[in-house]
Amino acid sequence: MRGWAGWVILGWLAGAVCLMPGAACAAAPVARLTAVRVNSQECYDLARWGRAQALRMTVNRESREVRLTNRYTRLDLALGSRLATINGVKAWLSVPLAARDNDVFVSVLDVRTTFEPVLQPVRLKAGRKVRTVVLDPGHGGRDPGYRVGDREEKTHTLLLALRLKTLLSEAGFKVVLTRSGDTTVDLNERAAIARRARGDVLLSLHYNAAAPGNKDAKGVEVYCITPAGAVSTNVDPSEPGSTRAVPGNQANSRSALLAYQVQKAMVRSLPVEDRGLRRARFQVLRSTEIPAVLIEGGFMSCPDEAKRIFNINQRTELARAIVDGVLAYKRLVERK
Ligand SMILES: [Zn+2]
Repeated sequence: MRGWAGWVILGWLAGAVCLMPGAACAAAPVARLTAVRVNSQECYDLARWGRAQALRMTVNRESREVRLTNRYTRLDLALGSRLATINGVKAWLSVPLAARDNDVFVSVLDVRTTFEPVLQPVRLKAGRKVRTVVLDPGHGGRDPGYRVGDREEKTHTLLLALRLKTLLSEAGFKVVLTRSGDTTVDLNERAAIARRARGDVLLSLHYNAAAPGNKDAKGVEVYCITPAGAVSTNVDPSEPGSTRAVPGNQANSRSALLAYQVQKAMVRSLPVEDRGLRRARFQVLRSTEIPAVLIEGGFMSCPDEAKRIFNINQRTELARAIVDGVLAYKRLVERK
């Protein structure tokens, strides 16, 4: 293992483009960046893309790790892998990072739907604000969601939603719930409620459970809609899956930014494992045109996490982290 000596510097920062957290920067000058086909995907040469963002790229040929950094930003990637870490927070890409000859390639799809939305948030039109949050407590009524012992997911998603409602209201948001009791609400109706409420963001709340006997799976994850043309995170990449565009794709960039900010707020403030920003075509994400995310707040099947999920104080901590994520999103997209 040659360690740092094995790192090869492939790019150098030249521009004045900033990638400062909290500062929405102007789009990078990528005019001269041309896409090439690698493994039948439209890709950018990663070192060149990095240079256009003032990011310096290093590659460790032994560990196959790839890193892009500047003063404000650090991207950790690996050849052949879909896992990216953006400033310490995990995000699953749609296409694995590829290598050809001595060059590293990233898909244009991932640049457009993950890196740019997160690193260069696009502001809302002048005067537009993030005011109304639609909370969607998963399941309810005839649909209990996951069951672990005598605990039902639907009960705990509603308790989290009610806690969030209080905290978001205190933070100045208008809050609309897709259900406020133990009622059955159709998945399409949940998206319709968000539309009628003229919601600015939608948060669908869920808890996970692993297969019976698996008590080890744990951590939090946030899903946003899978981009058209990509395979969802939890689908075996060898299966084609559905790659068509859906109404939820209208909010691709903002949904990715919201998912990233909520995931970041949770993993930075809670003692939880980071399972990353993920992609899925869940119906509630598919049929919602506004920025929408589905939050999996932990595994009911993991004894340690279950204690946290069922405890009122720790539920408040989770709700606080989610509110912080929404506030971070709001700061990034609203014009001063
Ligand atoms: Zn669920």
